[in-house]
Amino acid sequence: MSEIETEAAAGIAEATMAGRAGVTGEAAAVSRVRADVAGLHAELVRYGLIVWTAGNVSGRVPGAELFVIKPSGVDYDELTPMNMILCDLDGNVVEGSAGSELKPSSDTAAHAFVYRNMPEVGGVVHTHSTYATAWAARGEPIPCVITGMADEFGGEIPVGPFAIIGDDSIGRGIVATLSGHRSRAVLMRSHGVFTIGRNARDAVKAAVMTEDVARTIHIARQGGEPVPIAPEAIDALFARYQNIYGQPSEGAVH
Ligand SMILES: [Zn+2]
Repeated sequence: MSEIETEAAAGIAEATMAGRAGVTGEAAAVSRVRADVAGLHAELVRYGLIVWTAGNVSGRVPGAELFVIKPSGVDYDELTPMNMILCDLDGNVVEGSAGSELKPSSDTAAHAFVYRNMPEVGGVVHTHSTYATAWAARGEPIPCVITGMADEFGGEIPVGPFAIIGDDSIGRGIVATLSGHRSRAVLMRSHGVFTIGRNARDAVKAAVMTEDVARTIHIARQGGEPVPIAPEAIDALFARYQNIYGQPSEGAVH
C-alpha cells in the first residue's frame, strides 16, 4: 500500500474503533471524510485538472456543522487523511484537531460560504483545469451541444462574476450562480472552475466532466459552429440520466 492508502486505512480503522467504542458518531464521520477528501485529490492529478498545488477538494461532515479541506501549499503526494484540515462552517479551523497546525486552503472561505448557504451540498471542488478555465477567461458559458453534457449538467455551464480571493465574494458568486441552476459547475470569470456535489466524490466527478465537455466543445468549434440540441431533448436527457441511469448518489444536487 502507498503511504496515502496506509493512512487512509488508518483513518478507516480509527473510525471503526471510534464507532465500536461508541465515542461519537461524529468522530467516525470526520475520519471517513478525511480519508475521502485526501484520496480524492489524486483524482484531480489522474485526470490532469491541476498543476503544482493549485486546486482543492472539500467534503461536508454529515450530521455536523463541519467540513474537511486540504491544507494550503502542501504537495499532492504528501496529502494524507491526518493533514486534512477540519473547519467549522464559518471557515475557522477547529483548534486541536489533526492538521490544525497547517494553514487551510486559500479557498476555504469560498467553500465555507457554499456549505453555509447550500445545505444540500456535501462536496466542493475548485480547479484551474485548462480548457474550462479558457472558457472562464473569455467569460463565455459552455453551451450544451452534446448529449453527455445534457445528461450531466442539464444545460449550459454558466459563468459566475469576477471575484477576488480572500473574502466571501467567490462564495457569493458561486451560490448566486448555481442556486436553482441544474449545473453543478460554474466558471468563475477570469479564474477557474468551482463544482458542487452531493458529496466530495460527486463534486470531483463534476470537475472531471466539466473539463471533458470544455475540451470537446472547444475542439468542435475549431471546425465550425456546433449544432444546438433542442431544449426539450436536453430536458429529457437530463431527467433520464438523473432518475434512471446509474446509482441514486450520482447527478444533480438540487
Ligand atoms: Zn483558484
